Amino acid sequence: MRKILHIVGNRPQFIKLAVLYNALARDGSLQQQIIHTGQHFDYQMSDIFFEQLNIPLPTLNLNIQNNSANLFIATAAEGLQNYFSENKKSIVFVYGDTNSTLAAAMAAKRCNLPLVHFEAGVRTAELSMPEEINRVLTDRLSDINYCCTKNNLQTMINEGFGSAISSQVILSGDLMLDAFNKIAGARENVTKHKQYVACTIHRAATLSSKDAITNIINALNKINRIIPVVMPLHPHTKKKIAEYGVKPKFTQLSPLGYPAMKTFLANSTNIITDSGGVSREAYFSKKKSLIIMDKPFWPEIITQQCSLNCSPAEFLITEKFNDLHTLTPNFDTNIFGNGNAALIIQKHLSAYFKNI
Ligand code: UDP
Repeated sequence: MRKILHIVGNRPQFIKLAVLYNALARDGSLQQQIIHTGQHFDYQMSDIFFEQLNIPLPTLNLNIQNNSANLFIATAAEGLQNYFSENKKSIVFVYGDTNSTLAAAMAAKRCNLPLVHFEAGVRTAELSMPEEINRVLTDRLSDINYCCTKNNLQTMINEGFGSAISSQVILSGDLMLDAFNKIAGARENVTKHKQYVACTIHRAATLSSKDAITNIINALNKINRIIPVVMPLHPHTKKKIAEYGVKPKFTQLSPLGYPAMKTFLANSTNIITDSGGVSREAYFSKKKSLIIMDKPFWPEIITQQCSLNCSPAEFLITEKFNDLHTLTPNFDTNIFGNGNAALIIQKHLSAYFKNI
């Protein structure tokens, strides 16, 4: 029997896996296994998602916890290649744009296994961004590329995918939207505030220097004087705040499980984030958001006037946050599909399996 090997390592990948695994399980002719690279490892960043979202435990956890991107990719690729070479009748499924994604893509191709990528065609044209490197290379290596948006699909077509580059490119819509629609929010909110800004900051690019993080924290401290800012703190952000001795004056929480996070976003007034996932969920939750990214991964949300974006400069963050009220957002376009991405992928993959 053909086997799908899902390679995951971080929080948003567990969430996408949760909905896809269930959909694929409906096809009795497919076997599935989960391999965890170990990128996110503590309870709040990993186990809680497997528990709360009913994801089967990984068959293998490589337990790689390495701060250097290149070392992580090399170690993960080596470990995965060893596993893939013993599982020759498999298809490798990768998600997003992380170091785990690229490591698995390289290992799959070295073992000559079909490679499937979800979240293809996202581009910032900024090759200095680690995520951009990972996604451009992974798209290129993949035999099937599933795209979340029409924009992503068009990017792939413009780059020659499906013609000069032999790869199937499919518009699936976004598994994050499936998750958002299918997984119920927690009954109680984690904050007692009636009005607040839900905030997440974690990307390495945003927290790259003391200046950058000081700028962001100062801006959030200022906004917090007008409306409470509440931030579930990513371990990387916590580490950087401590390392640079910056003093947040807003509310900080431990990282949340997905249902708690969904309720936390749903009850917020606005959202400030540098997260690709949370910026989409701001749109799904119909909340105006400020995306702290020079080149956002999902410019479609900005085109619909649902978000503004800016680089991590103190005055820009406060200014753009104040400008959110000038937006006249359209939350009703189906930028990310109809919430049936898992079904589209399941049908497509079942047909693909029959033909190989
Ligand atoms: N998320 C969560 N708990 C939190 C913060 C985020 O469950 O405390 C979820 C969030 O709702 C989204 C995903 O994690 O579904 C986004 O992950 P993250 O921001 O870490 O990564 P990115 O999307 O930027 O790759």
